Amino acid sequence: MNKPLMPVEDALARLLEMAAASPIVERERVALAHAEGRVLAVDLVSTLDLPPWPNSAMDGYALRIADWTGEPLPVSQRIFAGQAPEPLAPGTCARIFTGAPVPEGADCVEMQENAVVQADERVAFIEPVHAGQNIRPQGQETRIGDKVLAAGTRLGPIELALAASLGHPSLDVVRRVRVAVLSTGDELVEPGQPLEAGQIYNSNRVLLCSWLKRLACEVIDAGILPDNLEKTRTALAALNDVDLILSTGGVSVGEADFLGHALREEGQLALWKLAIKPGKPLTFGHFRGVPVIGLPGNPASTLVTFALLARPYLLRRQGVQDVTPLQFPVPAGFSWTRPGNRREYLRGRLEQGRAVFYKNQSSGVLRSAAWADGLIEVREGRTLVEGEWVNFIPLSEVLG
Ligand code: AMP
Ligand code: MG
Repeated sequence: MNKPLMPVEDALARLLEMAAASPIVERERVALAHAEGRVLAVDLVSTLDLPPWPNSAMDGYALRIADWTGEPLPVSQRIFAGQAPEPLAPGTCARIFTGAPVPEGADCVEMQENAVVQADERVAFIEPVHAGQNIRPQGQETRIGDKVLAAGTRLGPIELALAASLGHPSLDVVRRVRVAVLSTGDELVEPGQPLEAGQIYNSNRVLLCSWLKRLACEVIDAGILPDNLEKTRTALAALNDVDLILSTGGVSVGEADFLGHALREEGQLALWKLAIKPGKPLTFGHFRGVPVIGLPGNPASTLVTFALLARPYLLRRQGVQDVTPLQFPVPAGFSWTRPGNRREYLRGRLEQGRAVFYKNQSSGVLRSAAWADGLIEVREGRTLVEGEWVNFIPLSEVLG
């Protein structure tokens, strides 16, 4: 009897558990300019109030409400951003510009559009003012001691800007995960080489190498591995000092399974049959203690299994807690009448607010994914009539 297929969430849970069991613990300090995509190793705690002092949200005039009687006020100082003001002289106002510190004694800023400069240069305000108007209070953004970013946060442009605003020139990040990429298959040749009968160009290599770099991994490109046990053993043994061996191909049923064989000899191997389409077979094992993930070789299968399983695994190794890509329900622009026994990830996009998919969903067709903006998730056992809700995972969510 056939064993039931493993649900995607079970495979993910196992991978995440194994990732958490072998976290990358080494850290390094990296300048902000080089920290994009890295994972914060320690909580970032503010040592500043931000802003450090109340400042003006407008170009206008700072004044003390109690001084406002309706009569024009003389201007006692001009304060630009970057200047340190004098306390506000009683019965006067201060010309002030956006971002400039509000002088001690002032309790509001009146915008210049509501001010009329008199012939004698005193300023009349045509709008009544109220306390705190147009003042950004000290500590509005953060207070000393606030945890601004938690360890395990992935650093993108916004997080880096936040760190810069708190005065950090560099951050402590988790060291890069070192991932060796292996493409298996006698039929593979690299682009640039002539294509002989029976051969195809290796597309998974560049797919994974470029994708891994976006995930802040250090990529060890281990090239193409022929379908041969001895060469597989030798190639694996040559991969020193890596945190993960990531291979594609050679995991389909009925195939001469050289990777699996080598793992069985020198480590452990689990062969999973997943309820996922494209991409049913997946290998997880160890070679001399180094974790190995073997993805299916068909390009669309490689893409989907990397996006949904290997990517979260790699992020969790780096200590990232939130590894679930943002996804949202959208109305299906199609009907689905034959329920599948695998969860299907259709390469699709949104057209007029409805999810539609590329006409050819073969796992060998990478153009489906190039055409697509996301993965439309159709759960196992499910049928759909047009307009029912389906989950949509934008590719932009998983590609970085
Ligand atoms: P396999 O899992 O080795 O049986 O491969 C499944 C299918 O994916 C076969 O048609 C292979 O030729 C193809 N394939 C495997 N690896 C690659 C690769 N690196 N680039 C492009 N196609 C591949
Ligand atoms: Mg193969």
